[in-house]
This record gives sequence, structure tokens and C-alpha cells, in this order.
Amino acid sequence: MDAGSAYYRATAPAGARYPALTGRSEAGTVIVGGGFAGLNTALGLAERGHRDVVLLEAHEVGHGASGRNGGFVFGGFSLGEASLLEHLGPERARRLYQGTVDAVERIRRRIGQYGIDCQATDAGVLWVNWFRDPEVLRRRQRLLAEHYGVQWEWVPRGQLREQVRSERYGDALFERNALHFNPLAYARGLAAAATEQGVRVHEDSPVVGLERDGAGWRVRTTQGEVRAEKVVLACGGYLAGLHRRVDASVLPIATYVMVTEPLGARMDEVLRTRAAIYDSRFAFDYYRPTPDGRLLWGGRISVRDRSPAEVERLLRADLARVFPQLAGVRIEHAWSGLMSYARHEMPQIGEVEPGLWLGQAFGGHGVAPTTFAGELLASAIAESDTRWRELSRYGLVSACKPFGMLGAQLGYWWLQAKDAWKDWTERRKR
Ligand SMILES: Cc1cc2nc3c(=O)[nH]c(=O)nc-3n(C[C@H](O)[C@H](O)[C@H](O)COP(=O)(O)OP(=O)(O)OC[C@H]3O[C@@H](n4cnc5c(N)ncnc54)[C@H](O)[C@@H]3O)c2cc1C
Repeated sequence: MDAGSAYYRATAPAGARYPALTGRSEAGTVIVGGGFAGLNTALGLAERGHRDVVLLEAHEVGHGASGRNGGFVFGGFSLGEASLLEHLGPERARRLYQGTVDAVERIRRRIGQYGIDCQATDAGVLWVNWFRDPEVLRRRQRLLAEHYGVQWEWVPRGQLREQVRSERYGDALFERNALHFNPLAYARGLAAAATEQGVRVHEDSPVVGLERDGAGWRVRTTQGEVRAEKVVLACGGYLAGLHRRVDASVLPIATYVMVTEPLGARMDEVLRTRAAIYDSRFAFDYYRPTPDGRLLWGGRISVRDRSPAEVERLLRADLARVFPQLAGVRIEHAWSGLMSYARHEMPQIGEVEPGLWLGQAFGGHGVAPTTFAGELLASAIAESDTRWRELSRYGLVSACKPFGMLGAQLGYWWLQAKDAWKDWTERRKR
């Protein structure tokens, strides 16, 4: 694995290694992809007594976005709550949003039930206002309370300054029902829990072929082959190249993370909260204190995957804008990871052909939604549950590559420019 999750690897308990698939075998269900979408589906199936499951991962469990993300566990989707409401109406929007809130609770429960040591910090998330105008926060707080039954607490600027020691922000909202953790350790814990219940996990097993075989499917890896009644594709932004329409409907988009040296007493000059934090801009900073006293800092969205040195250079500048008191701090790890985005910014979950299931496009807000998706897919396969159809409005729409990549990058720059303009006009008025 690259430098991607070196920090998470160093602080996670050693995970089991799973053998590559060799030879020929049979299974009820084959899952392709060992990220949260695949792992949650596998565990959801096993928990329902459907244990004849093979999970195939090209590298190691958690190699993709799931093992290298910011570690924020909170409700909601990449698509904002206002758009969800507008698209689906109040009842359906609320049911889907609630699925992600329940997923946060399911993650807490699984950590306890399966004894997953993933350094979880159950201290909520602060959404801090980059701007002085409080209306965006007020509007979101009202919308969440009125339409989703979710209460985010108001944190006035003065109070926020005591917790987050930056001049940068206005007020904030506090989402209590949220936590943060080491995502690679959690991914490994899910794999162990699934394996204990009979799921066969194979790492170093890139799937290179997917063909119909009678009523089922034949799945080929570089060294083996499995015949299965059902297949679930869960490959995120690390496109598998197995199904043209599935790959064509997502854009792989990069975002970046770095981790400082242990801050010791300096942590107190920066943060006096254990909550995770992100700001109200389109391309926001996200950061959190780690249990070993470092600051884990993430941000930026780009169509370019960058080297650790470039990531550090970009994020160091972002950090200095918020916490100038950390100038000169040593950065010990930096990496980039790929998210998968659909044009509609919602996950694509469901049956795309008879017996061929899909869970992808969770964007930058995927930890809880992949848990929700795992439940929807597992109950559809094991119990013929049709709840996944609630998401059928958000199906496979072409991402219009390669122009979609250019469009996405131009769109990001435009929204970033709007944020910068708002920032500049507010500063001029002060
Ligand atoms: C840097 C970063 C920070 C983020 N921060 C947060 C956050 O703080 N909170 C949050 O909620 N979300 C966050 N996200 C988003 C979240 O991590 C993702 O939405 C989620 O992990 C997606 O899970 P997944 O299983 O769909 O994809 P992935 O985790 O990417 O897994 C896909 C897997 O499929 C495998 N694969 C691909 N092709 C094949 C093949 N042919 N054969 C076998 N295996 C294959 C890959 O190796 C990979 O392991 C972040 C994402 C990134 C990149």
C-alpha cells in the first residue's frame, strides 16, 4: 500500500491477512471491493444467516477511500438536505436521511458488539461558519429540525473561540450524534466480524472478468474464479473496469489528508474540544484531534490525485490560514484518496441487471451511507426487501467522461471562487 494510510496503519491493531483467491469455487453471493460498501454488505448478509459469501479485494481490506478517509462518522449524504427534500418530498427524504442517522448508531453498536479497536471518539462534530453571515447556519438548523427531526445545537462565536482557537470563524452548529475514528481499523474490524460468521475474504484478488453464466455469474480474478448466483459491485472511485455503464456513471474525485507530529502542550493553543470540525465552504477544511495528540487535517477536492509532498504543501497553507500558531509544525504523513461521485451526488444502490447489484458513488460523505447501503443490499439479497428502490431516482446516469471531469473541475473552481468572493466582501465591510 502507498503512503495513503501509513498513519492509520501505524495506529491500528494489526489486521489479519486474507489469502488470494486461487482455483475454482462457488458462492451464493460474490462481493467485489473491500471498502465499507462491500464490507457492510458482507457483514449484513452474514448477520442475516446468508453466509455463503465471497468478498474479493484487489489489494488489502480498506485500501481505497474507506481506509484513508477523515474518519468523520455522521448522518446525511453528499447531496445536501435541502436538495434531497426538493427531489423526493418530505416523507421519502426523511426516511432516507434517517437511514444514515440509524447507520451512525449501527456503527457504534458494531464497534461494541464486535470489540473493534478503532480509537473511536464519540464527541460529536462542529460545523463552523467560515463567514460572518449566520443565515446559512440558521437556515440549515431550521431545515434539519423541521423536516428531518434532527437537532443541531447553536454555538455562538464567543463560545466557539474557547473550543476552536482560531479567529477565522463566525458561529457554529454542533451535531451531537456523531463520532470520529480510525477508519482502516474499523474496516479491518468489519472484515474480521464477517469472516468469523463464515464470509470468505480474499485480498490481492483483483477481479478481471465478469460474465453471465446461465442464471448466475462467473467472476474471474488473476488466479481464480467463482461462480455465483449474485454479484455486488462495490468498487468506489477505484473503478473496476468490469461493467461499462457502472464505471461510466461515476467520477473519481481526489481529496487530501495530512497528519501533524504529536502537538503536546501546543494542542491546547489550537483545540479545546475532542469534536471533529469542518467548515461551511463548498471546498471545506475538515480536521480532528487524534487520540495520540496530533491534528489530522483534510481538505480540497480535485480531479488530480497528488503526491504526498504536493498534498503537504497545499494543506499546510490551508492550516496556516486557520491556525497561524502552528507555523512550522512537522507534518509526518500526507496522502490522497479517491471518492466516487455521481452527477446527482447521491449513492447508486440497487440491482442493475438480474442478479447484478451495485453500491457506489458515496462521494465525500460515505461512512454512514455505506453502512446504510450495506443494510439495504443485504436485506434485498437475503430477504427480498425492496427498500433500496427508495433511491431509484438516483440511478446510473452518465458522468459524461472525459468532459465530466473537466466540468467537475470547472464547477469546483466556480464554487470556490464564489466562496472567496463572499469572504472578500465580508472582510471589506469589517
Ligand atoms: C481522503 C478522503 C477523506 C474522506 N473523509 C470522509 C469522512 O471523514 N467521512 C465520511 O463519511 N466520508 C469520507 N470520505 C468518503 C468515504 O471514505 C467514501 O465515501 C467511502 O469510504 C466509500 O466506500 P466504498 O466502499 O464505496 O469505496 P472504497 O473504500 O474506495 O472501496 C472500493 C474498493 O474496491 C476495490 N476494487 C476496485 N476495483 C476492484 C477489482 N477489480 N477487484 C477487486 N477489488 C477492487 C478497491 O481496491 C477498494 O478497496 C472521504 C474520502 C476520502 C478519499
